[in-house]
Amino acid sequence: MRLAIAEINLKALANNLAQVKHFAPNCKVMAVLKANAYGHGLVKIAQHLSAADAFAVARIDEALALRAGGLTKPIVLLEGFFHQDDLPILLANNFQTIIHDENQLAALESATLDAPIACWLKINTGMHRLGIAPSQFESFYHRLKASDNARDDIKLMTHFSCADDVNDEKTTQQIALFDSLTDGKAQQHCLANSAGILAWPHGHGDWVRPGLMLYGVSPMLNGVGKEHGLAPVMRLTTRVIAIRDVDAHQCVGYGGRWCSDKPTKLAVVAMGYGDGYPRHARQGTPVIIKSQRYGIVGTVAMDMITVDIGDNGDNIQVGDEVIMWGPELPVEEIAQCASTIPYELLCNITPRVSYEYQE
Ligand SMILES: *Cc1c(COP(=O)(O)O)cnc(C)c1O
Repeated sequence: MRLAIAEINLKALANNLAQVKHFAPNCKVMAVLKANAYGHGLVKIAQHLSAADAFAVARIDEALALRAGGLTKPIVLLEGFFHQDDLPILLANNFQTIIHDENQLAALESATLDAPIACWLKINTGMHRLGIAPSQFESFYHRLKASDNARDDIKLMTHFSCADDVNDEKTTQQIALFDSLTDGKAQQHCLANSAGILAWPHGHGDWVRPGLMLYGVSPMLNGVGKEHGLAPVMRLTTRVIAIRDVDAHQCVGYGGRWCSDKPTKLAVVAMGYGDGYPRHARQGTPVIIKSQRYGIVGTVAMDMITVDIGDNGDNIQVGDEVIMWGPELPVEEIAQCASTIPYELLCNITPRVSYEYQE
């Protein structure tokens, strides 16, 4: 019997890519696959996104892993390259780079390359993380145009900081600034992450960059994927490995942080932070056993969680499946219970969890 399993529903993935195209019908799609495809398995997910126009990752190693997996689509490096020595690797593997600062531009300009590299010039319109200042835009643009090491079809990019909040003015300001800088340039534009795709249609540009929504999860504040026609791709399950009776006033688990107020039954479940389940999930965070919700009690340990199955205890046996999140139990809800975001929960799945891909 296998315990922690991440079932990956590839039909749901296809549905979600179709939803991206539904929300951004005139855009090319750069599918974001960083961090092991948000914990879903880099190469496997990429193999099932043949309808995307390009892939995007954060690090060169991730891009090389895609090539080693036999994937041939263009790959965009969202942080660009890190050293001039990386440039021949980019060229040899048909990787496209972001240019986000002076060091990168200078390294590109002074390199000796056999052919030019495809570049995306990233403008900081308010995220204040990567990207050139608006005032640098014209000069960077012309230097790239003039460099033999940059392909002529320079593309222009920015990134939203608050697109998950439909009431935040920031996104409108970012789009306006980007448009005012890039107006009149025939170059292709790319602005929107998942939240931008769902909530900010006037910021779609020519290319969109969906990550989270491909995996069926809502990027919006307090959102759930199915509100946007998305289907969760991952279902994380495990099994009950013991059932025990506790008396009133027994304190369970490390630190004795939860104590029973009346006699009850607990299911001990084979899942913990060693599988990537969040240790800070609060008391009462739901799991599903036999189609019914129960709350976790006590501190999440490395390998185990205790669940109060109370009066229904007789229905539940050792070996029963426990759903930690999935279509029946949104990962968005579990993230809220753990004071984090679904992105983190998905990325944190550890190698101890086995993956089952369902075509
Ligand atoms: C991760 C990332 C994305 C995808 O964001 P989602 O919110 O997952 O859609 C898009 N663009 C950049 C620059 C990113 O780093």
